[in-house]
Amino acid sequence: MNDLSKLTYSKIKEGLGKGEFTSEEVTSSYIDRINAVDSKIGAFLEFNPEKILASAKESDARRKSKALKSEMDGIPIGIKDNICIEGEITSCASKILSNFRSPYDATVITKLKSKGFLFVPRTNMDEFAMGSSTENSAFQTTKNPFDVTRIPGGSSGGSAAAVASGMVSTSLGSDTGGSIRQPAALCGVWGLKPTYGRVSRYGLVAYASSLDQIGPFGNDIHSVIDVFDSIQGYDSHDQTSAKEKSFNVNHVKLGSWKGLRVGVMKTEDTQASPSVAKRYEELKAALTKEGAILKELDFSLFKYSIPVYYLIATAECSSNLSRFDGIRYGFRDEGQGKLEDLYVESRSKGFGNEVKRRILLGTFSLSSGYYDAYYGKAQKARVLIKKQYESFFKDVDFIFQPTSPTSAFKVGEKTKDPIQMYLADILTTTVNLAGVPAISCPAGLDEIGLPIGMQLTSNHFEEEKLLSYALMLNEFPETKIHLPETIK
Ligand code: GLN
Repeated sequence: MNDLSKLTYSKIKEGLGKGEFTSEEVTSSYIDRINAVDSKIGAFLEFNPEKILASAKESDARRKSKALKSEMDGIPIGIKDNICIEGEITSCASKILSNFRSPYDATVITKLKSKGFLFVPRTNMDEFAMGSSTENSAFQTTKNPFDVTRIPGGSSGGSAAAVASGMVSTSLGSDTGGSIRQPAALCGVWGLKPTYGRVSRYGLVAYASSLDQIGPFGNDIHSVIDVFDSIQGYDSHDQTSAKEKSFNVNHVKLGSWKGLRVGVMKTEDTQASPSVAKRYEELKAALTKEGAILKELDFSLFKYSIPVYYLIATAECSSNLSRFDGIRYGFRDEGQGKLEDLYVESRSKGFGNEVKRRILLGTFSLSSGYYDAYYGKAQKARVLIKKQYESFFKDVDFIFQPTSPTSAFKVGEKTKDPIQMYLADILTTTVNLAGVPAISCPAGLDEIGLPIGMQLTSNHFEEEKLLSYALMLNEFPETKIHLPETIK
């Protein structure tokens, strides 16, 4: 049998459908691949080959008896370690949850199960999804498959690196300020952050509830479309789940660029490195050549995106993480035996430095006396950013910009300077603040062989259009996916 781990998601789906190979064979190829390369990458925190093979065999049996759950039945999907699967550990790459087993399935898991996807838990991440490089995991640093001296992006670095190195063809991540799109860009794969409210957050461990969304990674655009279609939709378990505006996957199709209005940035305003800037210019020219009408938008308000995002995200996380106190979940250290000791010791030893920094920042900005100056102001600025997007979408069909200002940086390069790390999110955070959907598309490699990604953003609930534009962009030679043959 050939090495099936080299195939795209679409080829896997097609091959399973035609009976060219079985789910067990696909799964075995991924298991071999994980055994061969994950010691260099560190994408998975846990890996249970027997369990995955057993579910692959069940899928093959369904196929034999013509009881398939969907065309996707039997396709393995990597799952980020902050999405609950019943009976599995969900640690958020944190010591404080290292022994926490989820008693229930997240809604996205229930939905994927109903389609027959096979779960490959648990992909590594920055602790509680706080970070841009996957160096904040309490357990291991994930490396970029294109160059293992570099980071894969974050916080969903494990999910992105697993797809880029052929350990799965698709995976789930979560995106609060860029954690799907930025690692997708840095690992040369596709990554979608849906509209806020489109995908249920029930069973996603909360970081910043007003910004968090689950979404897919994939080694082709079709994986992102299928997985998004499978997980989206109203869920009564999530109070912020959106009821209106259904998504119809049949409306995602190739169209013409002629006359499409594309919002762009002045290249110098992107703060992009020379190679990212060059690719952005080339693609803008390619879009114009195809007949799209490019409009330069006024992004001046977006210079506030990093302070606004980090004030809101840290305020929400300080509240969300107060539940991890050593009493109800996970790690406990009783200290000298007094109740207060238990709280202090459990949290001091259970959380890593970045999480503590953010809890402190958030607690500070929410404290009386500082609330109006920081959190209150950030909320006002958030409204302005949202309005800015509303006005953009009166003039353009979608926005086109780089996902990340640079390609993957070196492991350790930004860990000493949190502000530099936060600036990696300069092009992604406004999307979460406004709640609009955006996708990162692979856009070739730079001169030293590292991936570049471009981001398409559309208006709320316009995923049908957004994914159609992504499908069209996929036709350009510049966006052809190049995944590393060997891991060096
Ligand atoms: N890098 C950003 C942060 O650290 C975004 C993380 C995310 O989207 N989960 O908050």
